[in-house]
Amino acid sequence: MPRARKLTKVLDMDDVLGGLARTALAREPIRRDAARRVLAGDDELLDVVAAGSRVRRQFFGRRVKLNTIINLKSGMCPEDCGYCSQRLGSEAEILKYTWVSPDEAAGIADRAVRAGAKRVCLVASGRGPHERDITRVERTIDAIKADRPDVEVCVCLGLLSDGQADRLRAAGAHAYSHNLNTSEARYGEICSTHTFADRVDTLERATAAGLSPCSGAIFGMGESDDDVLDLAFALRDLDPDSVPVNFLIPFAGTPFEGRWELTPERCLRILALFRFVFPDVEVRLAGGREIHLRSLQPLALHLANSIFLGDYLTSEGQPGADDRQMIADAGFTVEGLEEQSLPDARHDLVVLRRRGAGTDLPANA
Ligand code: SF4
Repeated sequence: MPRARKLTKVLDMDDVLGGLARTALAREPIRRDAARRVLAGDDELLDVVAAGSRVRRQFFGRRVKLNTIINLKSGMCPEDCGYCSQRLGSEAEILKYTWVSPDEAAGIADRAVRAGAKRVCLVASGRGPHERDITRVERTIDAIKADRPDVEVCVCLGLLSDGQADRLRAAGAHAYSHNLNTSEARYGEICSTHTFADRVDTLERATAAGLSPCSGAIFGMGESDDDVLDLAFALRDLDPDSVPVNFLIPFAGTPFEGRWELTPERCLRILALFRFVFPDVEVRLAGGREIHLRSLQPLALHLANSIFLGDYLTSEGQPGADDRQMIADAGFTVEGLEEQSLPDARHDLVVLRRRGAGTDLPANA
């Protein structure tokens, strides 16, 4: 009798995973109760990874997109995000500097592209940019694009005010990144100087300006399964093109110092959940992967289709050569500059105008 009960339970979870995969493959929203089962851990981890892997392969094949971060301005932030080594009052012994010159940034970008990076993420600490900061970033984008016209440039400067997203778009930025980080219910516990709604507002401004929206999460800050689900579904409502999944780097000198609550299994379950919620969206394995996934990093490539290459904002990542070897060993390939990142299924939602003004074809009227 116990044996029969056990068999029923296994079949139930098989059904759940099969259903999640089928729903995700159809690019339809998954149900919260099924999503919760992915996190619950009452089934085999490899079954979860295998189900998520079907979805990843369908939309992204064996490609892994590499992204690189350039921290244009480091430390000395007036905001108090608890996870951040650059926060107000941080005693983390990080590099602190003001704006990196456009030429220096272009040199870093060029090296990263030669090493396989397809996207350059230009990040600066602070609540949000002043107009003169936007001018600096415009010059930086110019310098990067002069050497590497095909590279994607994503900008991450904090909260945007009127007109700034338009300026970045006009300067050639491809995307804007602003993470929601944690659930709305918990946001006040990790930051008191701005709100979840502020972050949503900036993402919406970026999207309205034609920038590709990038927004993700940080896990390992005491969140419950419900918080993980709330955040995943809140992000889905914003319809981002890329979703970075970070695992807390518990810097000494920050409020979250010494916080090591994640296991490799928990990280993989979260990544699988994000793959089901974002089947055809770039799910990017981001900060903290080395220290939390450890020897299970290659399994994460079966769920995420994108990783950061090189170092993070204020901490070092594993050597780029090790990442490239890991990708090859796991049977994946580095996505080329000329390859399309997002599947046609997403691209067909945005049809570039090829008729009307500026063409020989009549306007759509
Ligand atoms: S996450 Fe950004 S806004 Fe928050 S403290 Fe760090 S640099 Fe400042």
